[in-house]
Amino acid sequence: MLVTFPHMGNCWPAFKSLCENMGAGVYLPNENNTQQLKVGLKHSPEWVCFPFKVTLSNFVECLENDVNKIVMATDCGPCRFGFYYAVQERILKDLGYKFDMYHLPQGDLLTFEWADFLRSICEDKSYATTLNIYRTARVYLMKSQLIQIAEKLEGKTRCYEKNKGDTTRCLKRCVRMIDDAKTYSQLRKTRWKIKDEFRKIDQQKHNGKALKVGLTGEIQVTLDPFVNHDIKRKLGEMGCEVHMDLSLYDWMKHKFHINFHRKYVEYLSKIHKKIGGIQMDIGGEAYWVLGEYINWAHKGFDGFVHIYPFTCMPEITAKSIITKWYGDERFDLPPAFFGFDEHAGEAGLVTRLEAYTDLLKAKKEKRNGTR
Ligand code: SF4
Repeated sequence: MLVTFPHMGNCWPAFKSLCENMGAGVYLPNENNTQQLKVGLKHSPEWVCFPFKVTLSNFVECLENDVNKIVMATDCGPCRFGFYYAVQERILKDLGYKFDMYHLPQGDLLTFEWADFLRSICEDKSYATTLNIYRTARVYLMKSQLIQIAEKLEGKTRCYEKNKGDTTRCLKRCVRMIDDAKTYSQLRKTRWKIKDEFRKIDQQKHNGKALKVGLTGEIQVTLDPFVNHDIKRKLGEMGCEVHMDLSLYDWMKHKFHINFHRKYVEYLSKIHKKIGGIQMDIGGEAYWVLGEYINWAHKGFDGFVHIYPFTCMPEITAKSIITKWYGDERFDLPPAFFGFDEHAGEAGLVTRLEAYTDLLKAKKEKRNGTR
């Protein structure tokens, strides 16, 4: 009996450990790719959000490889994500696949419904003890945190690398190390190894010329390089130090109500109510995207890149508000917006990014009096 989950960027070692430590056999889904996506597109409603199509194509690939248990997260939030698992289950069963769909409730992790979910995927009930559930959750959270550390270092290192590709290779090695570390003590050592790996990268300093750019948006699009056409790498190679607070770990902390950074950006959005600051979670990351925009504007960032699935209602709302704020000169942080779906093209994205970073460089030079 094999269990699987959707592929989302570098998060797979955490999801894998969650299932393995509960005694389940794991089928690791393929990295998302164009060929596989065609299947998801074929069987999804045309109007549905892009992440739905990407995850559906993951599931078809897994079911074709003898998987019989699928784990899909769900939420009670105000947009379509809460219905993904139910609609996907219906589509896949109509296609004739035989499997069990397990939904992982993540609306509020302090309800501990996730512990029941972990018990339910155990085939060998000796794994279903409270102690093992605690250990599994701890390893999962630690792996998520290490992935976040590696991805933050990646964003801040790439624009300084002397040999193109060193940072990308280093990140891959780190993700592999996170997967290989199985116990809490091994994971603690891995934390230092990750920092060491990035320190070893041959770097040149830009003397303050690197652009400080914040990257945020809808979580699946932001975390999966196939879905976002590797925008983080592209920005780094164009000379941007990319700052990104969004990660699986950030999301988990939020759902455990201990994410103080999110609380702070919520506050920033709320206190700008008079000019359109969102007052509550309206789905996606819109609420926090607005707060993050204000936060990075206050910190003097050079640019702000917001990415989202093409038809994502909450993110489009956030985009409209930020566009107005910048147009009205409320904040001096030039935003760029990129919507992704199956029609998004590579060349157009690169051209827009080049134009955007050129404008940011010119603005920075003017501000520093070097132009
Ligand atoms: S956040 Fe956007 S992409 Fe995700 S389910 Fe909601 S509307 Fe769809």
